[in-house]
Formats: sequence, C-alpha cells, structure tokens
Amino acid sequence: MNRIGHTGKHAKKILFLALALLLALSAAGCGQGGATGDSGGGAAAVDGGDGAGNERVSIVATIFPPYDLARAVSGGLADVSMLLPPASESHSFEPTTRDIISIQDCDLFLYIGGESDEWVDGILESMDTSSMRVLPMMDSVATVEEEIVEGMQEEEEELALAEEEEVEYDEHIWTYPGNAKLMLEAITEALCEIDGANAPAYRENAEAYSAQLDELDAAFQDLVAEAPLKTVVFGDRFPFRYFADAYGLDYFAAFPGCSTETEASAATVAFLIDKIKEEGIPVIFHIELSNGRMAEAIGEATGAKPMLLHACHNISKDDFESGLTYIDLMWGNVDSLKEALS
Ligand SMILES: [Zn+2]
Repeated sequence: MNRIGHTGKHAKKILFLALALLLALSAAGCGQGGATGDSGGGAAAVDGGDGAGNERVSIVATIFPPYDLARAVSGGLADVSMLLPPASESHSFEPTTRDIISIQDCDLFLYIGGESDEWVDGILESMDTSSMRVLPMMDSVATVEEEIVEGMQEEEEELALAEEEEVEYDEHIWTYPGNAKLMLEAITEALCEIDGANAPAYRENAEAYSAQLDELDAAFQDLVAEAPLKTVVFGDRFPFRYFADAYGLDYFAAFPGCSTETEASAATVAFLIDKIKEEGIPVIFHIELSNGRMAEAIGEATGAKPMLLHACHNISKDDFESGLTYIDLMWGNVDSLKEALS
C-alpha cells in the first residue's frame, strides 16, 4: 500500500517542519547568532546528515557554488551539505550510497544540470521526489553552448558529439557573479516555500549576499573598463565563458571548460605562446585543482607569470572547514585579473 507509506512520510515531514518552527522561534528569542557559520562545520556538512538533524530543513548541493549560496541564504537556520568532498574533482564525481540516501532524505536538492551531472537524472528517477524540491541551477540563468575558440583542442568525444549535432550547454554558469545572483534568488524562493516560518530571515540573508555579489560584479566591470589589456590566456581548461562574455574579455585556452584532456598538443601550446608574445600578455592562467604544469611551461617559454584564476568548482579541505565563500574566492580573482590585464 504505497499511499499509506506516502501519507506517513508527509505527516513526518509536517512534524519536522513544526519542530523546525519551534526551534527557530526559540533561537530568535535568544537573538540571532552564527549568521555566517554553517551548522556543525565542515565534517558534519560533508556527512550529509542522517537522523539527528532531521527536524531542520535539509539542503543538499552537488558542488561548491550552490552549496555556498544555500549556506549564505540559510544563515545557519537550515542544514546545508555538499556531496562533492572538498578538494576533489567535480567532473568525475560519482555518488556513493550514502550520497544517494542524503539526496533521498533532503528537502531541497540543488545541482547544476550540465554535463557533469548526468548521473543525477537516473538517481532522481529511481527515488520518490514527491516530498522534496529539486532545483537544477541551469534553469535559473540564460545558458550558452560550450564553445571551441581558435587554438583550443577538442576532445575526441566532443568531436563525435558535434557530428551528432548534440548541443552541449556550458555548465559553468556560476563563474559570472550576475548568474550567481540569479541562482541565489532561485534558492531563496525554494527555501522560503519549504520553510515559510523562516522566510523573512532567509530573504534578509539573501539580500545581504546579493549586495556583496553586486559589489563584486561592479569591481570586475570597473577593472576591465580601466584595464589596458582585454585578453586572458589559459594554459588549462576554460570554464570562464559566462564570465568572459559578461565583462567583454577575449580568451584563449588549451581546452574547453569540461574537457578531461590534460596533455595539450604541440600546436595548441605553440598557439598560446604566440598569442602571449603577440599581445604582450603578462599572465598565463591555470584553474583550481589543476597541476598547473602547462601554464608553467608556457610561462617559462614566454616570461608570462603562471597564476590561478579560481573557477570555484570546489575548494580545499582547509578552506572548506574555515568557511571560505564564493565571494572570498572571487575577490582573489579580482586581484589576479588586475595583474593579468595590466
Ligand atoms: Zn568544470
């Protein structure tokens, strides 16, 4: 009798929400505390929470950007966890049984919805999602197709896909702070619907984070407007399409955003070296969790300085535990970009 199981689950959920409301009211009575800290720190967050934390709304995010935004909106009032372990590669992520259980048990599931999330559909199909909200972040922004620019090395798989004329949208939507703002809004709306009692607090938290995103956006705009150079070069994959489009930057890179290639051809390397020399570009970028070897080699050949431009897929364990945010990482990028465009 499926229906009985269903009703039971709903009743349980209502009980949990009532408990969450009681807890929120008592917390409000003691004054607002711990606005920035996520509940229970890094270890508990990665854990996915089973049992003990169930009276609070639980949010599960696949990777760092939606995790960070949900954490900012919840301000400690909801449990937010990230499936991707800190410091690990997001493109090859495969969920464990524990991850699947934490998705099944959550109230709000956040994922990007691109190439790296192909595993999500199958898992969602296999579970009862009637009592949870599922939010693919790519639905909240205007997406563009993944692009191969001059000099970029295509993967064999990509070439095969191109032949099938399958459109592949670039999943790195969050690299542009304006998109992060739209993602933040979508998360806020969903969370307010699930947990109406805390909606005023969620909206207030979202407004504060949104203002910080605006500041960041303005900093990038001003920086590019004043910069003598408008071209960036990556001796690596290029997940910054949305970012470059938004700020009017030209770019050259070894591979497109989600490529699994690590070894560039001699022609690709020679092309990037020529570009740097031609335009007098002072910095050769690599992204996070990359060995940076190609950027280093190109740096040695050209005198350009190898630097990190953080695409925020994921962060180190230490940074995760200390509560580093998307905003923090992106301000680091403001400094690096300033150097690269000077
Ligand atoms: Zn990526």
